[in-house]
Amino acid sequence: MDNEIIYNEIGKLIKKERKEKGITQEKLAELTSYSLSFIANIESNTHQSFSLHTLYNIANALNTSIHNLIPDKPITKKEYQLYCSNCKYTVSIPKELGKLTEDITTITKELTFTCPNCEKKSLKIKQ
Ligand SMILES: [Zn+2]
Repeated sequence: MDNEIIYNEIGKLIKKERKEKGITQEKLAELTSYSLSFIANIESNTHQSFSLHTLYNIANALNTSIHNLIPDKPITKKEYQLYCSNCKYTVSIPKELGKLTEDITTITKELTFTCPNCEKKSLKIKQ
């Protein structure tokens, strides 16, 4: 399993759990004594890595089990990814859509998209 992907998947689960509990990122940072930027990085697709101990602390702060913050099925590495050269935001594209994207790229070569994270037009296909 790709290390970067597992952190992104856990980050998504932390974000989901935090929102369900009605806790802001600021509050979670306060409860865990981690910095707000660290919490924000964990929840976004920045491949922020962290220790098991950190995950345990976050689970405690969210008053949930650590099991709820770990993906319950294997994650397969997607073939295509969009990568933002400005903020390092990464998003995976399903294989089928990836092939389509490849075809479009072949025609247009320099295809860039607006990044949903930093809103700069610097999101490109990474293969
Ligand atoms: Zn960006």
